[in-house]
Amino acid sequence: NIVFVAKEITGDETRVAASVETVKKIKSLGFDVTVEAGAGAFSRIPDSEFEAVGAVIGTFADAASADVILKVRRPSESEISGYKTGAVVIAIMDPYGNDEAVAAMARAGLSAFAMELMPRITRAQSMDVLSSQANLAGYQAVIEAAVVYDRAMPMMMTAAGTIPAAKVFVMGAGVAGLQAIATARRLGAAVSATDVRPAAKEQVASLGAKFIAVEDDEFKAAETAGGYAKEMSADYQAKQAALVAEHIAKQDIVITTALIPGRPAPRLVSRTMLASMKPGAVAVDLAVERGGNIEGVVTGQVADVEGVKVIGFPNMAGRVAASASVLYAKNLVTFLETMVNKETKSVVLNLEDELIKATMLTYAGDVVHPAFGGAKK
Ligand code: NAD
Repeated sequence: NIVFVAKEITGDETRVAASVETVKKIKSLGFDVTVEAGAGAFSRIPDSEFEAVGAVIGTFADAASADVILKVRRPSESEISGYKTGAVVIAIMDPYGNDEAVAAMARAGLSAFAMELMPRITRAQSMDVLSSQANLAGYQAVIEAAVVYDRAMPMMMTAAGTIPAAKVFVMGAGVAGLQAIATARRLGAAVSATDVRPAAKEQVASLGAKFIAVEDDEFKAAETAGGYAKEMSADYQAKQAALVAEHIAKQDIVITTALIPGRPAPRLVSRTMLASMKPGAVAVDLAVERGGNIEGVVTGQVADVEGVKVIGFPNMAGRVAASASVLYAKNLVTFLETMVNKETKSVVLNLEDELIKATMLTYAGDVVHPAFGGAKK
């Protein structure tokens, strides 16, 4: 049985779905591993390092004989056509709004798994790609902001005078937001944050940041059982926007991370709010791939919007690819291991397993995930 590690073909993808450690692990499970030549190049893993732990370096044509394909991004039509029927494909599938791409994987007879649908339960914590990647994205957002902010972040009291600490406001205090808060604090900024989930308040405070939110009855009930944010009412959004508008005017750097699963990102920062910020202010929109939290954000650019430098880099975790790949690969291999029958040393899908149920998009020619038009088998 063969596991194939693909080289990503999507333009901005720098990550790879395996590391030296995970190739070793997959070998120990009884599989042969083929790594597509150059797959780890942007993650600082040369082919020779994969080879040294027993992987065969191959080409895309080798995917045709693989039983399991590990990827970062959902395979394209042309990639799919190179896989064998019945192959297991595990990746970040971005299935929302991409019904046709999901259907194409079903038609090809693939068993396709979307890592981002992994349930947030204790057993699956080590398979949680949203957390492993968002954590790095939150860190990198602060680093990118620091680069274009033409001042120092920490307060510096010197003989030549005092530089005040930068004021950083983080919107959305989930995994990415909390890491952004921690990183900005380490750089010495004065940090505040907001979120619509009441549980975030304590977490923000425990990191030494100030919590800013309208705390009415709707706010107190705004967390789903899965721990995600709900889409807030128009009334709440208006009240929150007024509070935020007043706060943003005093900030040097704003970092937005707000997402709602399966929905476009909420619009949190208007042009008017940007115009109210100080000269030289910086904003980073980590939600740019889901439509953005900031009005005027441009994907892939540092755009000047109302005098504010708005950073709209997609795939922020990919800008720290070597770290992101190591964690992503570990998430994948931990999930793969749950599918492996130790005696036969092959993948046996237990369709009743809750991790399989939650993440399996297509199986035996059909779209099977109920959220994407499939009926559960
Ligand atoms: P996310 O990426 O879906 O969203 C980022 C943040 O944006 C969230 O905190 C969300 O509440 C917030 N948000 C949404 N709409 C907003 C708005 N209008 N204004 C301000 N903020 C808004 O979230 P996430 O980082 O994946 O984390 C979601 C929750 O899941 C958190 O409570 C996190 O601690 C929890 N979590 C649990 C586990 C686990 O138990 N295994 C793992 C990871 C995360």
